[in-house]
Amino acid sequence: MFRHRASLGPVDLAFTDRFGGVSVVPYDELNLALEGGDDVRCRAENHRLVMDAFAPTDELVDLRQVHGAVVDVVEEPVDPDAFDGRPGADGVVTAMAGLTLMVRAADCVPVLLADPGAGVIGAAHSGRPGLVAGIVPATVARMRDLGAVEISAWIGPYVCGACYEVPAALQDEVAAVVPESRSTTSWGTPALDIGAGVRAQLGALGIVATDLAACTRESSDLYSYRRDGERSGRHAGLIRLRP
Ligand SMILES: [Zn+2]
Repeated sequence: MFRHRASLGPVDLAFTDRFGGVSVVPYDELNLALEGGDDVRCRAENHRLVMDAFAPTDELVDLRQVHGAVVDVVEEPVDPDAFDGRPGADGVVTAMAGLTLMVRAADCVPVLLADPGAGVIGAAHSGRPGLVAGIVPATVARMRDLGAVEISAWIGPYVCGACYEVPAALQDEVAAVVPESRSTTSWGTPALDIGAGVRAQLGALGIVATDLAACTRESSDLYSYRRDGERSGRHAGLIRLRP
């Protein structure tokens, strides 16, 4: 269920893999996607299983992700029934205990952030458009608004720079904004390393990230849209402040 799980002071965090859920082939097993072809009851049960294992008493705060730079600042409990009406966002921050923040991905970079001393946490989903739009720096800025100073960061599984092939023009476009993202595939064609890009954005803010260094495309333990297309599920990053 958990590819990686850690605690730092009052902060718990985890990244899921594809095991321990109830979805059947090709979404097997722990598909946490909001949408797609998988049975809605399986997806709901998978979310219940993850929350049972991670934080049974917490309320889940997730996002309608749209590859933008909007960050939700959660300052009161979220009404789960109002989810569909919420605007899209790719980052979320809170200083409230008892909420589990979730970001979903299948090749994009899931980023978890925390200042355990200040009691401020955040999560962001940064694919290629999010990297260019600066969703991770925007999430850090909202955390600092809430009083975060010493921020730690964790980068979950994403498609690596040796696997993420893009047209040369697109590579140039992204590298013009984040030069560190320029990469080459293992077969010698233009590529992007979106994780290196996120690490560079965090580094410019004085934040050193722990990178799981797991490639979604290369590991069948993880979901990959690049590998499986519409038959791919989603894994997730989770972070919470213990009450
Ligand atoms: Zn790879």
